[in-house]
Amino acid sequence: MNIRCRKINCKFNHAGTCHAREVHVCRGAYCATYQKDQRKLDLELASELAPTKPNNVPLSCTVCACLYNHDCRCAANGIAVVDNEVSNHADCATFIER
Ligand code: SF4
Ligand code: SF4
Repeated sequence: MNIRCRKINCKFNHAGTCHAREVHVCRGAYCATYQKDQRKLDLELASELAPTKPNNVPLSCTVCACLYNHDCRCAANGIAVVDNEVSNHADCATFIER
């Protein structure tokens, strides 16, 4: 799965690309793999740093309410993950309610 992610204080985020071994999106449509890296600042990612290469991260998702979810698999071509500043979660922005 190609994952573009704007949660740049995550230890797995390199310039907007997710480098986790695998990602799990859980109920509530947020990334449960997120781990805050204390050395990284909560800065907005500059658009010129947006990734251009596919990263093909294994993804599992248990958000049954999402249109793209089929038997705990995400059928989207890729997902975008954004920073939810209220909850401090990394939310799947590709989520569409059934
Ligand atoms: S928040 Fe999730 S999708 Fe984003 S870089 Fe971290 S592990 Fe990957
Ligand atoms: S698009 Fe839907 S099925 Fe895919 S990871 Fe996001 S919430 Fe899960």
